[in-house]
Amino acid sequence: MKLDMQKAYDSIEWPFMEQVLNALAFPDKFVKWVMTCMETVTYTVMINGNLTKPFEAKKGLRQGDPMSPFLFVLAMEYLTRSLKTLNQIPDFNYHPKGDIGSIKLLFQCFMEFSNASGLMINKHKISIFFGGVSQADQEEILELLGIQKGELPTYWAQVFVLPKKITKLIEAMCRSFLWTGEGSISKKALLAWEKVCLPKSAGGFNIMNIAVWNKAAICKLRGRFGKVSWRRIVFHNTGCPQWTFILTVAAHGKLYTKDRLHKWGLQVDQKCVLCNQDNETIHHLFFECTYAKALWSALLPWQIIRRPVAGWDEELQWAEKKTKRNTAATELYKMAVAATVYHVWQERNTRIFQAKVTGWEAVSKKIIQEIHCRSTKHTAGILHRLDWYPV
Ligand SMILES: [Zn+2]
Repeated sequence: MKLDMQKAYDSIEWPFMEQVLNALAFPDKFVKWVMTCMETVTYTVMINGNLTKPFEAKKGLRQGDPMSPFLFVLAMEYLTRSLKTLNQIPDFNYHPKGDIGSIKLLFQCFMEFSNASGLMINKHKISIFFGGVSQADQEEILELLGIQKGELPTYWAQVFVLPKKITKLIEAMCRSFLWTGEGSISKKALLAWEKVCLPKSAGGFNIMNIAVWNKAAICKLRGRFGKVSWRRIVFHNTGCPQWTFILTVAAHGKLYTKDRLHKWGLQVDQKCVLCNQDNETIHHLFFECTYAKALWSALLPWQIIRRPVAGWDEELQWAEKKTKRNTAATELYKMAVAATVYHVWQERNTRIFQAKVTGWEAVSKKIIQEIHCRSTKHTAGILHRLDWYPV
């Protein structure tokens, strides 16, 4: 079961916190100090750029206070201890396998904790995971608790190629669990793993082969993005890790651009904040937007690349071709792509969240400086010749 607390820090009740501290036998004086720190919070609210009069808080832990995480852990200790008391009930089972009585008891325990502490469990974000539970039992449980069925998180394995070592390790664990019922890796195997992974119709158990599945999941993503692969730009990119991270997320179309937020039903102004002309999409933002275009038309000649800036697809195709050869110029270009995508995304965010605007000229200088800072043996020569700013 996966639980989610609604606004956890803001809703802890002070008397509850005090009782927990007392029950854990902290000295009275200490408890008083802690409570004084907790209870002397005031808040002000910004309305149209003006601050309101401060008002006092009635519950909750202070955000950003180094003491708060520790207090929160103590509050959760209460839940841990009440869950532990459950095993005194003879019919209770920690791994219920569809045993509705046990699930009810577990849930009751959460609810009692919720009532005592003020921490509300967020019903929309709770999910329950099943293994070996019949469809009918699953439905009954979901209906009883009014929560949704969870799916195992597959996000990372769908975006990144997992290292062989990792997929092997996962498989070894699955295999060991299948034969021995234990999570630790053992060597007992009655049937070759490849066979276990075969579809049932072919005599297998239809268990997933992690490496094959990882590959398939990534191919699915690639398919969505046409045949052009970003791999060569992202891999062995000597730019900052943050740059390549944002580039990878962008390449997979997973950045939270306004068009995606809109698709989720969020009411957002869809205009691109960089140019105020077109709507913001991944395709628009990084090459087509006049801001990005201006940036590129400084950065391409700087690298002695003489061609106009094109759209997303054309740029990708060009990058694909360019990165086939591993020259210093290629390495530099890969870094420039990652840096530019990162800085355009940063600029977009600081405009939205901090209302700060930086012109493309300043950003292009920053990118060039940062690329110089990341010079390697391979790129030192070419960067030495590029010791100038485009104007
Ligand atoms: Zn734009």
